[in-house]
Amino acid sequence: MNVDFECTKCGKCCHDLRVPLTVAEALAWLARGDEVQVLCDALPWLEEPPQHNLQALQRRRRSFAAMSGSLPVMVMVILAGAYEGPCPNLLPDMRCGIYEQRPLVCRIYPAETNPFIELNPSQKACPPNAWAPGLPGLLRSGKLVGAEILSLLQQKHDIDVCDLLVKQKLCRLLGIDCAAVWNEGFVVYSPDRVDLLEALRQAIGQSSTLGIPTWYFASNRRTTREALLTVGALCSQGLTSSTARYEYLGFFAATD
Ligand code: SF4
Ligand code: SF4
Repeated sequence: MNVDFECTKCGKCCHDLRVPLTVAEALAWLARGDEVQVLCDALPWLEEPPQHNLQALQRRRRSFAAMSGSLPVMVMVILAGAYEGPCPNLLPDMRCGIYEQRPLVCRIYPAETNPFIELNPSQKACPPNAWAPGLPGLLRSGKLVGAEILSLLQQKHDIDVCDLLVKQKLCRLLGIDCAAVWNEGFVVYSPDRVDLLEALRQAIGQSSTLGIPTWYFASNRRTTREALLTVGALCSQGLTSSTARYEYLGFFAATD
């Protein structure tokens, strides 16, 4: 598949979002006075994937090991600038107010940050005239083209790996220990902005290594909860810490 693309600067992609942020971007986002959420999912991880399973290895690189009861799991934590309506950095004329410091994902959009997700223009916010034939090439034979976008993706990949330990420490500091099952949804924590900023700074400054933490699962589907309990996992019935609060963001309808 070939895709041509040029941004029309319509600003539609800067509304009603959770913008994934690196640790450094989250610090800057919070310091500007804006809210950051912590999204968590986890996946049972009984054995290491073979080297040819690139998708599993990608997941492995972005996750840290934990135990849920007797079940080994890999936990992925995403920091996200969260807002309804326009992004707090969007100017009235639809320009980005932090253009030179905008997050990596904003620079990469509308390309996918996950190499295993195929770009589908119909699922993007961009208007039809942003995809007109003859504009600069974005995909050629299904592959991203252009040194800049490829460099940005590599940067994101490298930073995701570097940020892992800080995210693990952050969760410990904030009492965050509950995740949705991968591909079913996210557990979304919304810590107080000042607390989160302070905890992030502490997590960055801590030199200690961490043991294997205990994590809980949450699910809005009864069959999932039953399956998890069957394999020895811990399922949360509510808040597990007085300092953490979360909502469940499910991809599927709830079942009792
Ligand atoms: S940071 Fe800038 S580019 Fe990113 S969503 Fe906000 S306004 Fe848009
Ligand atoms: S929605 Fe697409 S065309 Fe519009 S500003 Fe965002 S990237 Fe550009």
